[in-house]
Amino acid sequence: MNRDELKIKFEDIPPEGLSLGFEDQKGDLIKDCYPISRPIRAKVHLQRWGIDVKVTGEVETEVKLTCDRCLKEFPFEIKGRINVLLEPRAVLSRLKEEVRLTKEDLDVIFFDGITVEVDEVVREEILLAVPMRKLCKETCKGLCPICGQDLNEKSCECKPAFKDSPFAILKKLVVSSR
Ligand SMILES: [Zn+2]
Ligand SMILES: [Zn+2]
Repeated sequence: MNRDELKIKFEDIPPEGLSLGFEDQKGDLIKDCYPISRPIRAKVHLQRWGIDVKVTGEVETEVKLTCDRCLKEFPFEIKGRINVLLEPRAVLSRLKEEVRLTKEDLDVIFFDGITVEVDEVVREEILLAVPMRKLCKETCKGLCPICGQDLNEKSCECKPAFKDSPFAILKKLVVSSR
């Protein structure tokens, strides 16, 4: 995949729009954030909308996430729709709230008004699709904070001591801050 081919000049987008698809085998687009277990495939359509560019399409891949509780790696499938409006940064200063409201179904991203960075748009959509709370499963029991046993596999002997440990207080704090 050549990322330069995904930098599209605004003036090169024909009136009827421009469709393109690409495959990122190695996951270069998000390699600084997550490894992938399936290639990133994306199809996008660029449409000029005055001085804006509307980008629609879809992206799919599977990323490898680390469970927040048990620290095991697990695959997470991403199938996202892309529905983004690129607005020239220069418009930002005179952007009124009413304008925003009419576009509330779209994500608005700012660009320099000259080059549409399709790779960046797709990257952004993938990263947005990754959940904040990464759990291998909702019911993951996590690791024992004392002995490190994966409590999904078997329980350990630390449990009686757990109540008196500093972690008990921590646990309370976590619960009450929710
Ligand atoms: Zn887990
Ligand atoms: Zn334990």
